[in-house]
Amino acid sequence: MTSTRYDGDSWDLASSVGSTATMAAVARAIATRADDALIDDPFAEPLVRAVGIDLLTRLAAGEAAPDEMVEQMWIDLAKVRTQFYDAFFRDATNTGITQVVILAAGLDSRAYRLSWPTGTVVYEVDQPQVIEFKTRTLADLGAVPTADRRVAAVDLRDDWPAILRTAGFDPSRPTAWSAEGLLGYLPPEAQDRLLDTITHLSAPGSRVATESRPNPQQGQEDTTKERLHRISERFRTDGFDPDMASLRYFGDRNEAAPYLTDRGWILNGISVRDLLAANDLPPLKDDDLRMGDMLYVSGTLDETTK
Ligand code: SAM
Repeated sequence: MTSTRYDGDSWDLASSVGSTATMAAVARAIATRADDALIDDPFAEPLVRAVGIDLLTRLAAGEAAPDEMVEQMWIDLAKVRTQFYDAFFRDATNTGITQVVILAAGLDSRAYRLSWPTGTVVYEVDQPQVIEFKTRTLADLGAVPTADRRVAAVDLRDDWPAILRTAGFDPSRPTAWSAEGLLGYLPPEAQDRLLDTITHLSAPGSRVATESRPNPQQGQEDTTKERLHRISERFRTDGFDPDMASLRYFGDRNEAAPYLTDRGWILNGISVRDLLAANDLPPLKDDDLRMGDMLYVSGTLDETTK
């Protein structure tokens, strides 16, 4: 399978990388209805519905049963991932940080559903069609941001700091940054550039949260691609064609955690495997997608770095 990605490609929430944001919201919608009540994202289902992909709407609404395409693993991963970033922002703002940047926000509704301390400014960065769709749809639903929400509609491979500053971002203030579900969709050098830029724009005391995936061993990526291919085939039979293996950039890249540590960030990490266990969720059945070893990392910029 060849990649459909190229420099400057763009998308809406029904196409290319944009559809991964909609799939993430599907998982949050299903997880929100689960008995364990580990997460609560009331906007996930209406947002998916508004995107208008029939199969994804039915899954999000609980009208189609999850199987290999949206198996329990995806739902459990959505639970631990959402909790991790929710807790990150809660902790960061509890220390007094009032500037938050959600990179690759997709259909994340944190700017509407978390209890942000008064005065918090939340910047959401994503491609223009993604940002415009979410802003319009949530306004139509009568949703009101729970912080001073501002948007930077820009490609993260372009000069996004300029657009962020135009929206009011102040690099002299400590920032809480998240890059959730993003890095694998950036070419390796764009990932490095993004992490360098975050560091450069971070005042002392800033915090960051993201994922750090160990580089694959020989043959592992073929297994991952085959699995993604099978899942895409399954979706295709129901009229949705995400071609998931072609959306990510494969091959070695700098791992995010050591890369950030080398640039002065003091990080803690926990693997997906341990997060599942900590939440009494079942272990991964197989790990063709190499999720278990993926680390969720968060930390603070060393005060002496700047
Ligand atoms: N963070 C959201 C979540 O967890 O639900 C969305 C994750 S989704 C898997 C990937 C997101 O990354 C999409 O919203 C997509 O538009 C965004 N993205 C990927 N590459 C991007 C780029 N070059 N510029 C802007 N956004 C990008």
